[in-house]
Amino acid sequence: MRTRRAALSAIAAAASLALTLSACGQSGEGGSKEDKKDTKGSTVGIAMPTKSSERWIADGANVVRELEAAGYKTKLVYGEDDPDTQVTQIEGMITQGVSALVVAAIDNKSLDNVLQQAAEADIPVISYDRLILGTENVDYYASFDNEKVGTLQGNYIVEKLGLKDGSKKGPFNIELFAGSNDDNNTKYFFSGAMKVLQPYIDKKQLVVKSGQSKLNQVTTLRWDGGTAQKRMDDLLTSTYGKERVDAVLSPYDGISIGILSALKSDDYGSKNKPLPIVTGQDAEVASVKSIAADEQTQTVFKDIRLLAKSAAGMVDAALKGKKPEINDTKTYDNGAKVVPAFLLEPVNVDKSNYKKELVDSGYLKADDLN
Ligand code: BGC
Repeated sequence: MRTRRAALSAIAAAASLALTLSACGQSGEGGSKEDKKDTKGSTVGIAMPTKSSERWIADGANVVRELEAAGYKTKLVYGEDDPDTQVTQIEGMITQGVSALVVAAIDNKSLDNVLQQAAEADIPVISYDRLILGTENVDYYASFDNEKVGTLQGNYIVEKLGLKDGSKKGPFNIELFAGSNDDNNTKYFFSGAMKVLQPYIDKKQLVVKSGQSKLNQVTTLRWDGGTAQKRMDDLLTSTYGKERVDAVLSPYDGISIGILSALKSDDYGSKNKPLPIVTGQDAEVASVKSIAADEQTQTVFKDIRLLAKSAAGMVDAALKGKKPEINDTKTYDNGAKVVPAFLLEPVNVDKSNYKKELVDSGYLKADDLN
């Protein structure tokens, strides 16, 4: 008997073919009719990584809303940033008989065994935002163009320093921070930023004074703001006596807030010691307020309302034996297969456009920012 997973692989192949065909102006075949089940009213399990960051709280609520609107029940769990807890939670949901799983991994390499159990129970798996690595048992991936997130951060730094248009030559001091080393997104964010920054580092227009410029020297376990604050404190003490840091590449708003705390404790932000450019990601309320107050400089807005829609669409299609909307069948090789993906566009945000991008779009309420 053909399993749902075999049918899904066939659909993924058809989706890939459809992409190729539509690129040639033809239309592809419809979805497989195999394994259609009445899944209406079934429960979809949603495993989110942590409640310590606003975005994941909103992600959970958004995915629940989208799935419920499509007629599903949901079971939403948070893994407290602990990989073992997440595995146990997913096991529990498989035992409870969920019809599908949406998983934002904590440690992208820790889910092999549990997803094997999901496959044996014929449960489709959507990898949410963070790609799950090393297993065939992932059906679809919903995320953003993660490399572009880093490109936006890197570009922002070189533009604001005046290096891009040549109005300033530097040298400027910069320090680099990256995300958690067990999150597959981390390397995409960092490489996107470094492709922009490295040529200026090579020309000595940007100087990483600490000398810490390799990814494995600058990661921040579990994206923890306190860890980043401590590292920034240490860098300021060890490396910046009389000199000033002019820019800090930060991959995520929670890390940016930690970095800014360290800087402010060292008198940055006072009259004669302006704050450096500090990037970020996620447009979290604390950071948008910080941007409005001229502290953090930039963030990357990723409209996770659309991400939830995409993931819910993937669940619904997988359960109904249809083709979900996919726009990338090449980029996200998880080591076991290339996972068909739908990638959304990240948006650069700073003081000049946060109202338009975040408030006018209804993503944040003006009141939240007071
Ligand atoms: C997400 C980012 C987020 C980070 C920390 C990454 O996987 O893509 O949006 O800032 O995790 O939560």
